[in-house]
Amino acid sequence: MNKRELVLERIEWLLALAEQFVKKNPERTKRYVFLARKLSSRYRVGIPKRFKKRICKICNTIWIPGYNVKIRLNKRLKAVEYVCACGSLRRFGYSKKRD
Ligand SMILES: [Zn+2]
Repeated sequence: MNKRELVLERIEWLLALAEQFVKKNPERTKRYVFLARKLSSRYRVGIPKRFKKRICKICNTIWIPGYNVKIRLNKRLKAVEYVCACGSLRRFGYSKKRD
């Protein structure tokens, strides 16, 4: 196993743990996400797909729909908007094809 795989595995593990603590211990979640993101940038390993669009870059939390994030559609911009509990906004565009 090379270093890259090892780091990726650790990131996965940290984020899975982070996900478990969102409701029980938000501070712990933030710590885990922070560490995962730090590893990701230091070793240039991407955040796994299933977490990529579920992380707040401002407060380092994992979003649980209906709990700490509001999701709405912006039809004019053709984007899904995620409004985090910390007030930050992230947009992800959606394509016409999928309609
Ligand atoms: Zn946030």
